[in-house]
Amino acid sequence: MSIKSTLNSPTAEAGFAAKLIARFGDRVSQNKVLAPYFRTGVGGVGECVIEVETVVELIDACQIAQAFHRPYIVVGGGTGSLMSQVGSPGLTVVNRTRQILFTDPTSLVRVESGVSNQALITTTAGRGLGGIEFLSAIPGTVGGAIATNASFQGQSILPYIRTLTVWLPGQEGTVTQIRPSDIVAATGQPISLFKQTPPPVLLSVDLQLSRLYPDEIMRRLRAYRKRIALIADRTVKVGRPFWQELPHDRTLRRELERFRAPGIRPRWSESLLEVSRGSVQPNDYRAFLQSVANWAKGHDLRLDQRLSYLGYWPDDEGKIDA
Ligand SMILES: Cc1cc2nc3c(=O)[nH]c(=O)nc-3n(C[C@H](O)[C@H](O)[C@H](O)COP(=O)(O)OP(=O)(O)OC[C@H]3O[C@@H](n4cnc5c(N)ncnc54)[C@H](O)[C@@H]3O)c2cc1C
Repeated sequence: MSIKSTLNSPTAEAGFAAKLIARFGDRVSQNKVLAPYFRTGVGGVGECVIEVETVVELIDACQIAQAFHRPYIVVGGGTGSLMSQVGSPGLTVVNRTRQILFTDPTSLVRVESGVSNQALITTTAGRGLGGIEFLSAIPGTVGGAIATNASFQGQSILPYIRTLTVWLPGQEGTVTQIRPSDIVAATGQPISLFKQTPPPVLLSVDLQLSRLYPDEIMRRLRAYRKRIALIADRTVKVGRPFWQELPHDRTLRRELERFRAPGIRPRWSESLLEVSRGSVQPNDYRAFLQSVANWAKGHDLRLDQRLSYLGYWPDDEGKIDA
């Protein structure tokens, strides 16, 4: 999306900010640095930024952006995305919704999209509910995990989803309930729903968990303890940059290991990028990942990038307009 094409007249922009302030008061920040909302710790400035705490606030914020024809993005844990160096026009909504509703005696749980994977696992385990322990190995929020189809060791949250409650953009906007099978039927794969422009927003999800003995849940969680420690390690800024598995072939691995960039230390065996010193700018992260993907093409391999590039990227301009 072009920053030029999204700039309205100064009066319209003032109207947009005024409407947000009328709804959210001094919680609306203008021209705020976005870096702290992202695991990479880098990123430019957001024109208007609001942290929402309830689903109603999440809908209202996106609806205001739609009414003023301004772009909006929703940020969860900021662990699967890279904010541009330039920043983001329109509205950046940081999703801090955090309700988890239990429907005893069934093991169906309604989870708001801003709940972190770790909070979900801890809270449900405390109620003797399990099945999704693998999520503790993935940082971020439940909304981010669904929007990016996060997976670990071949396990994804998809089979546990009964219903998604989604806000669909439009002049009025609509809240609708969708089953994963409907999304797959409509778009080919669940993730593509959230890749549309303007993007639908996941509000909450109904998950079907299983009743398990606490010992069994603990046993399963212990299996991920190394990975849990690794994701808690804040030096690791980018995890799982590509959809595909990296090649196991020794020669190719050795070539891959030659990829270096100042400040970036790749740990290809765990598909992670660690930033060992200083801070690496978004353009450099992106250029680094692009050069690895280009190298793969030259070896008949496919490495599709799975990070979400948020905000305004001048280099994308030509591609989008082309
Ligand atoms: C150390 C480390 C290890 C990792 N390991 C793994 C791994 O094993 N497997 C894996 O799959 N990923 C992994 N990741 C990547 C990342 O953690 C996941 O993709 C995660 O699910 C992203 O969640 P998030 O809340 O941080 O999303 P964000 O980065 O905040 O957002 C990602 C995308 O989802 C969209 N989005 C977020 N919330 C919503 C919503 N409510 N509605 C609509 N769209 C939304 C955003 O707009 C953005 O496009 C790792 C990352 C790190 C840093």
